[in-house]
Amino acid sequence: MQEIRTGDRVQMRKKHPCGSDVWVIYRVGADIGMRCTGCDRRVLLARPVFNKQLKQILGHDEMNGGET
Ligand SMILES: [Zn+2]
Repeated sequence: MQEIRTGDRVQMRKKHPCGSDVWVIYRVGADIGMRCTGCDRRVLLARPVFNKQLKQILGHDEMNGGET
């Protein structure tokens, strides 16, 4: 399992209703917080749920690294 970090861009198996499947991680803890790159909506997923829905880690976006 790859380590997930704040600022990582990830692709999920399910597309968001807005059409985007790429998210930016903004919080890593018991829950994973991520922001949709299509519509800026933020969601929290329990870690096991996140791991199940994660398709791939696309890379690290430094611009979002320090965001809380
Ligand atoms: Zn969206």
